Amino acid sequence: MSWSEICGHEFQKQFFQRVFQNQTQSHSYLFSGPEGIGKTTFAFEVARLFNCEHPTRDGSCGSCQNCRLINARTHPDVLLLSPRENKILIEDVRDFIFRLGLQRVYGKFRVGIVESTELFSKEEIQNCLLKTVEEPPEKSIIILITSQVQALLPTLLSRCQRINFQLLHQEKIKEFIQKKYTLSDQKALNIAEHSLGCLRNAFSLAEGNQPFIEKSFFLWDWITGENEIFSLGPWFTENKDNIIEILSQLEWYLRDIMLFQFIAGKSERILTFSRYKKRVIEDASRLSPGITSRFILAIEQLEKDLKSNLHYDTTLLHFVLMVREELNSAPRCWN
Ligand SMILES: [Zn+2]
Repeated sequence: MSWSEICGHEFQKQFFQRVFQNQTQSHSYLFSGPEGIGKTTFAFEVARLFNCEHPTRDGSCGSCQNCRLINARTHPDVLLLSPRENKILIEDVRDFIFRLGLQRVYGKFRVGIVESTELFSKEEIQNCLLKTVEEPPEKSIIILITSQVQALLPTLLSRCQRINFQLLHQEKIKEFIQKKYTLSDQKALNIAEHSLGCLRNAFSLAEGNQPFIEKSFFLWDWITGENEIFSLGPWFTENKDNIIEILSQLEWYLRDIMLFQFIAGKSERILTFSRYKKRVIEDASRLSPGITSRFILAIEQLEKDLKSNLHYDTTLLHFVLMVREELNSAPRCWN
């Protein structure tokens, strides 16, 4: 693995290469940006670069002992703290902090990577993580990763150097998956278009899974149709693992509707889902901009609630009922 094997994020690559060459690294970084765009993969390349025995201008060598162990995620000096079933367990946090303070085994730096930092409760951050970020063990680098920077405490933010990551360009995703999966030009382009700048979506599509947007449409049509709401239960269960991606695509679709309402169809090319223009036009004429905007905010809140472990079925049901009620109370717009 080296920088060229990571999709996109060119500015961030140059930044870390420069930091490495000048040895001007911070103790703590915060990687923020949307989910599924490769922030954790990037953090592991930073860990490799700082531990590599033969670093190059393109990042780590990928073949020395340190690189190989980090690739296999078995390097004793590179630690990953991830949530389990959407929760960060306090025993995992304690173990992570304890191991971060141990003597280095093979590496030049101990690197501690924390995924989904937003899932820490405030108390946990104050008791454990904040203290470690404030006084990190010598020769260690901590990388906190989050897709919801607004959920983090200002005291934590102020102690980290923040690195923002953006959604990936369609062209970058196309190039990347074409190489990885040996796809035709057209197929790679289709997938890149559907992925909405998110590499995780692109992988899922390349592996033959149904596009999340089609699942989003199923959910949307069900809610806005005449169907019995409570019979959505099995669908919720079946799609539990991907519900955030499905909702996120629905949110983008609603944003398209709102955009279309504002530009009044003058430049359809700027729509994210231009291939679903017919649907967008139909929904744009049925929904008022006010309702569309409220639904977008409601989906954002729903995503947050689901990530903070509120009861899955109840939270979704609450959202679905809210949308139904809102539509029923605005018949002039909807019917
Ligand atoms: Zn190496």
